Amino acid sequence: MEQQQQKRYVLGKREEDGRYPVTVDGALTGTVHRRHGSWYAAIPGHRILERFSDRHEAAEHIVKWFEQGARPTVPAPGDRPATGLDMRTAGTGLLATRTYQHLVPDLVPTLPNLVRAVEAMARLAQLGWEPLEGYPGADQPWRMKCRLCGWTGRRFWSHLRGRNGDNTPRPLTRHRGCIPVSEMAAKLTTLAAERRRECTCAFPHPTHVTPMLEVLNKIGKALHDGAMLSATIHARAILEPCPASTMRAAALRLAHDQRARARRTVGQKIT
Ligand SMILES: [Zn+2]
Ligand SMILES: [Zn+2]
Repeated sequence: MEQQQQKRYVLGKREEDGRYPVTVDGALTGTVHRRHGSWYAAIPGHRILERFSDRHEAAEHIVKWFEQGARPTVPAPGDRPATGLDMRTAGTGLLATRTYQHLVPDLVPTLPNLVRAVEAMARLAQLGWEPLEGYPGADQPWRMKCRLCGWTGRRFWSHLRGRNGDNTPRPLTRHRGCIPVSEMAAKLTTLAAERRRECTCAFPHPTHVTPMLEVLNKIGKALHDGAMLSATIHARAILEPCPASTMRAAALRLAHDQRARARRTVGQKIT
């Protein structure tokens, strides 16, 4: 019982993405990170919304969750990554690659979440917004740039996507200080001319169902195996900016539904 007075956790060194690995009873369990002056705790597969005043308080919370039975759920059973680096890439989501900084670091990386992220980003492009960070979920503030005037700030996807089948983004004025509402349609038409039906990027992005299914299967297998670095690399194909993002999102939705149906038919669990 002498152990009781000692800290249950070990806080690792800051990783390059700003997260600190937290080891509980010798097992890598989660990470803590600072964002906008507060500290947050994360265990892969669990969303912890509380904010903390310092990294130790956040790490203590991971211990508390661990004691209540929370375990990182991303790595496959028996395939727990052995190194801090692997654990870091397991994070709460897919981390940015060197070439692209805006993957989805704060979402639990499941295929349905990725599909939502891709659809949200395609719609943002149509609405004249450019994401400045990965899709955080519909009801989390999302940092983005207004392509009509250059303003940057945070918007909620749940407001921009409209609701109850009404696709009208709110508010109509976009944000304080934007161009007059009467000039917005013309400006959006100009921006629409940038979009393409086929990808023209050096790193190809699938816009048809068959190649999309291949990418989804690769991401699905990597997520299932807890191979987060592979998942991140394969996810580039669907998450990187692309002039054909609308076609890509449509192909992704079709491929995802088709895959889910096929897996249901053979009685497998949908990942
Ligand atoms: Zn604006
Ligand atoms: Zn492309």
